[in-house]
Amino acid sequence: MDGRGEDAQAIGIDLGTTYSCVAVWKHDRVKIIPNDRGNRTTPSCVAFVDSERFIGDDAKSQGAMKPANTIYDTKRLIGRRFSDSKVQDAMKLWPFKVIQGPADTPKIVVSYKGKQKEFLAEEISSMILVKMKETAESYLGKPVKNAVITVPAYFNDSQRQATKDAGAIAGLNVIRIINEPTAAAIAYGLDNKSDINGKINVLVFDLGGGTFDVSILTITKGDTFQVKAVGGDTHLGGEDFDNRMVEHCVWEFNKRWNKDITGNKRALVRLRCACEKAKRILSCNTQTSIDLDCLHEGIDFCMKFSRAKFEELNMGSFNKCIETVEACLRDAKMKKSCVHEVILVGGSSRIPKIQSMLQQLFDMKVLSKSTNPDEAVAYGAAIMADKLSSNSNKSFKDLLLLDVNPLSLGVEIKGELFSVVIPRNTPIPTKKSKTYVTCNDNQSAACVKVYQGERAKSTDNHFLGKFTISGIPPAPKEAIEITECFEIDANGILTVTSQILSTGKTEKLTVVNENGRLSKEEIEKMIEDADKYKQEDQEYKKKADAFNALEDCIYNMKKMEHVIADATKWIEDNQNATVDEIERMKEHLESMCMPKF
Ligand code: AMP
Repeated sequence: MDGRGEDAQAIGIDLGTTYSCVAVWKHDRVKIIPNDRGNRTTPSCVAFVDSERFIGDDAKSQGAMKPANTIYDTKRLIGRRFSDSKVQDAMKLWPFKVIQGPADTPKIVVSYKGKQKEFLAEEISSMILVKMKETAESYLGKPVKNAVITVPAYFNDSQRQATKDAGAIAGLNVIRIINEPTAAAIAYGLDNKSDINGKINVLVFDLGGGTFDVSILTITKGDTFQVKAVGGDTHLGGEDFDNRMVEHCVWEFNKRWNKDITGNKRALVRLRCACEKAKRILSCNTQTSIDLDCLHEGIDFCMKFSRAKFEELNMGSFNKCIETVEACLRDAKMKKSCVHEVILVGGSSRIPKIQSMLQQLFDMKVLSKSTNPDEAVAYGAAIMADKLSSNSNKSFKDLLLLDVNPLSLGVEIKGELFSVVIPRNTPIPTKKSKTYVTCNDNQSAACVKVYQGERAKSTDNHFLGKFTISGIPPAPKEAIEITECFEIDANGILTVTSQILSTGKTEKLTVVNENGRLSKEEIEKMIEDADKYKQEDQEYKKKADAFNALEDCIYNMKKMEHVIADATKWIEDNQNATVDEIERMKEHLESMCMPKF
């Protein structure tokens, strides 16, 4: 059974860098599903503590106690190489260990059950997805298999593929990967359907914990969503603002006490947590303070933090956001005056300075806050999930999504140059071909290296994979033509096919391990491991519940000792009691001793 049968209910999951959110279309509306703690968003965090694994809120609370075993931010690692400068930079601030695995894939190292264990980012993400799946299952009261998962619009092919793999490891059938800002626009479109007459242009400004996305869309009659351009940075978000606050506090501590706390992991985790809280307060107040007892070597740390200081520390990032918005407008060939609405998405879009800079850019246009910035993405994903599922609500039958590819795709040609086959912002799904000629006499094979990015030199872009097409007939150089056909599906995922025109021989890009992509066998192995962890979690919980029940029993029995002693003393002290009083005492004693149901 593939889960797409009659009863297949599909959910929408916003797999965020810092928080994730799950939603479903039910009873003619989108329901954001609260987790077992009653929270509508769940920290994207997994902690391994002795013999137990925690996911979500419980994992986050463990963070300060077991920093090296509390994993977050895997969205910053997924689909990237260990040597990627962004991974190297992020690693400096993580209290957990990341090592270089085979084929330059990053591996997260934790100690679990007394042993060292290594996980890929896909595996940790899959654990968070399992939590979201279970949250939905307990709300719906039945198993869930199908899901739409969102990714930043600016995610490249490897990051999208890896997210899809994480879904598969979590036991989900990922029916579509959609872009986060597009999902937010769908949420906005549905909420404002009655007010949208004809066409409107919207700009979605999505600044979350770890990623920044901008999309410009044209919405027609509230149900056709045509993406005009996307832009962004997969490594810019609220955590960068936290980091700058942490760096500032570390500098201040050093200045005051002449002590460097950067080697004290626990202190850094506590400081980061306090800075994140202070940052949120600074979105409403102009001043706050950071107070931490015994932060380092018994020294208490207390410091005032003003909104002005926060803005000064992060102005570089704020300017970068605005420059990205301007570049996206240029790509969409749209004047800023043609944008009817600016939709704010992502927790960090609440920062007042960012809102005022956006208002200034759009000549004081009122920013749309009608969609909840933390939930809009999951909301849109749930609508898309319902549209794509077999038991879809008929109200979405007209919903049409026309997305674009975020980064140019092409091949390396002579001189390490990057030749673009599909330019960025081309509507998807799409299929485009380009013909190349051989560069040597009697060349028998050609190596096709596929890259994604905007730089002229191929190796400055993101390497997606390579394959060789052999069997080229002997001929002088430039005499043989080879066509490269690039095809992007609705998920934004690429397939490349090479063809020797004279013979018709073709070769497909089968993404091999060298690119960090998981093989089918590896995914199957990880699905087995995920089941094993789940069973271990269940066994652990069973054992913990049994211990709790035993402890309750002992506690109740101990209580009984007091009751019996009190009753014995009552007899000694009440020799003159009436029959009624004595019988009442007996009843009381019996009621205390009887088993309770
Ligand atoms: P998201 O990835 O959309 O869940 O956004 C999470 C990020 O938003 C985190 O970095 C939070 O610290 C940040 N955030 C949430 N609320 C606020 C707020 N009121 N002011 C500033 N940042 C916030």
